[in-house]
Amino acid sequence: MSERFEGNFTQQEPISEDAIAAAVAVLRSGRLHRYNTASNEPGEVALLEQEFAAFTGAKYCLAVASGGYALGCALRALDVAPNEPVLTNAFTLAPVPGAIAALGARPVFVEGTENLTIDLDDLTAKAKASGARVLMLSHMRGHLCDMDALMEIARAHDLRVIEDCAHTMGASWAGVPSGRHGVIGCYSTQTYKHINSGEGGLIVTDDPELAARMILLSGSYMMYPRHLAAPAPEVFEALKYDTPNVSGRMDSLRAAILRPQLAELPERVARWNRLYGAMEAGLTGAPGVALSERSQAEHYVGSSFQFRLPGRDGERMADFVARCAARGVELKWFGADEPAGFTSRHDSWRYAEAQAMPKTDAVLATLLDLRLPLTFSESDAAQIARIIRDELSG
Ligand SMILES: *Cc1c(COP(=O)(O)O)cnc(C)c1O
Repeated sequence: MSERFEGNFTQQEPISEDAIAAAVAVLRSGRLHRYNTASNEPGEVALLEQEFAAFTGAKYCLAVASGGYALGCALRALDVAPNEPVLTNAFTLAPVPGAIAALGARPVFVEGTENLTIDLDDLTAKAKASGARVLMLSHMRGHLCDMDALMEIARAHDLRVIEDCAHTMGASWAGVPSGRHGVIGCYSTQTYKHINSGEGGLIVTDDPELAARMILLSGSYMMYPRHLAAPAPEVFEALKYDTPNVSGRMDSLRAAILRPQLAELPERVARWNRLYGAMEAGLTGAPGVALSERSQAEHYVGSSFQFRLPGRDGERMADFVARCAARGVELKWFGADEPAGFTSRHDSWRYAEAQAMPKTDAVLATLLDLRLPLTFSESDAAQIARIIRDELSG
């Protein structure tokens, strides 16, 4: 009898008792809106913002309703206009091109590499050809490109960089936290990311005017002086009558459960990286498998694992995925003809102009991905790798 994996790839850890107690306290108070606070009570949302600013080393932080909202808010703060070209990865998740399209702007896709990072040569070419002012850079599946080289290109072409750190909260490049290279960093606190409030987002920046705009955009009802990780009230004076309210605040209940999780994040990152290490050890040297190369400068969070099976055609890829699934190993294949359960391919975003992305398509054709929830043990990861190895010979 061949072994079968019995774990659940979408089962997160429970919310800790500390976080549950904090949530119950908010519920008992009845004060769930971020600005509905008792006198002298800063409120959970303002405290979360202060703590996340400290965690990333940013001057300013704003908590919002989702990661997708954070991206849209960043684009609005940078005054992205209808029809304006915005550079972004051809391989990312749907909320990224969606945020650009929601403003009536035009996603201009940039190719990706075999290590699942943005292709810097294509970025240079597309920056020149499009004349874009903004790059929305997605650190898809937690892979960081050479951020120093990217920022050089951004400077040379006057690109303002928004970082989509949905998969890199807690990661860094050359010691600089992900989200702190560009002008604005956006994070998600949705259930499948690194801290879990069901839905939610965080935004960081050092730019006082952008921070003030984003706070006003999120719907601050002139209560911005109540923020603890915000610029001085004077910065708002010049903006407060001209910035539309596009409500997307975070509420106190979510902030209350995120604060204890943020404190636990470094320990969680260490656990994720042990799972990632067990997968890597199990698949290193497996025939026909290409693993991602990670730079010494990259401190990543291994909350998911990717590998490629170069040379396999679509039929053999589909067959491999089915055989692994039959043994309890759920793999996502980014090369399938029809998107199922998620959309991460430029050609399934037909609201954007069709663009030829041969290099990205070639990578995605044999790219497989699996989640590593913290409910898995290292021996679970080793078993998953064994099953994958076993099925490779088929
Ligand atoms: C999850 C995710 C987002 C944000 O998603 P929300 O569900 O809106 O929080 C953005 N980019 C990527 C790559 C993601 O995976």
